[in-house]
Amino acid sequence: MNSRFALYVGAAALASTLTIAVAAQSGGKRDFDAEYRTAVQTAKDAAGFQWLGTLVRTCLLPQSGGENTNDNVPDFVTDPAKAPPRDSWYAEPAKVFDDVYFVGGKIHSSWALTTREGIILIDTLFPYNSEQLIAGGMQKLGLDPKQIKYLIISHAHTDHIGGAEIIQKKYGARVVMGAPDWDTVEKYPNRYKTMAPKRDIVATDGMKITLGGRTVTIWTTPGHTPGTLSYTFTALDRGRMVNIAYSGGTAFNFVNNTPNPGIRNFQTYIDSQKKMAQKAAAVHATVLLSNHSEFDDAYNKNRMLAGRGNGPHPYEVGEEWVQRYFTVMQNCARAAQIRLEQRQATATN
Ligand SMILES: [Zn+2]
Repeated sequence: MNSRFALYVGAAALASTLTIAVAAQSGGKRDFDAEYRTAVQTAKDAAGFQWLGTLVRTCLLPQSGGENTNDNVPDFVTDPAKAPPRDSWYAEPAKVFDDVYFVGGKIHSSWALTTREGIILIDTLFPYNSEQLIAGGMQKLGLDPKQIKYLIISHAHTDHIGGAEIIQKKYGARVVMGAPDWDTVEKYPNRYKTMAPKRDIVATDGMKITLGGRTVTIWTTPGHTPGTLSYTFTALDRGRMVNIAYSGGTAFNFVNNTPNPGIRNFQTYIDSQKKMAQKAAAVHATVLLSNHSEFDDAYNKNRMLAGRGNGPHPYEVGEEWVQRYFTVMQNCARAAQIRLEQRQATATN
């Protein structure tokens, strides 16, 4: 642990001590506003200039609140002409590490991990752009999409699972997803029309997907969806091994508009972020990847790669910044949870 990191960890610990002190000073009556401000400030301090997108999304923007029970066929499936225009999503593919390739779009990311026995693909974008971005992107980078052996889906939202049925059928790839998200896909046949891979591998906590001597370790991180998956894996940067933590779900996309079950749902989310922070620390992860450029800045970092020269890898932010990422998520969720606790306290007093 370097001294800046130690200072940062110390400050975060002090912030939570202060919260307790505030509660104690007010004679047991909680000062919810002060607690809220402390959580948001802790998130802001952790975000710095590195994780602003994650901070804005989870601390500042309004959240979707209720349960999504719609089972309508999406517009872009009913009528392909309704798919968003190409220039709103197209991005050039990029070789990010020796054995990790970006085959996503401007907003959503797919990552291809190459091994000597084939490719592990993480996420599949939408049905209307997966062919062009994933298969087309791979071909542009000299990879063969027929070599996709595993698809690991971070969670069953249409921006990540969209191409999974197509890729499973076309290339015979094995599909890995969390149990509750497999259930969601089966429960809403219209919502997932053309996007529903046949149930295959059910991810479990600590499961290792190994191909050609390369391993992705899966961590169940329920919150964003009940089946959300995150990962740790390694990559080579010009032959040097680096450790990566991948965060599979970010926004508060669960029921959070009432104290019950909102408080509990936020706790599930917070516990998952604490868990991923620990998994990242255990492997000394220095790179944080996500499935949206909004959170890991993939789109911009890919463009920085071209001008890297002998400089540091733009994705390699170091252990402290990887930890800070999860601190942002935890504290923004905690802030929202405090507001629900306040509502509950006011309702019962
Ligand atoms: Zn999602």
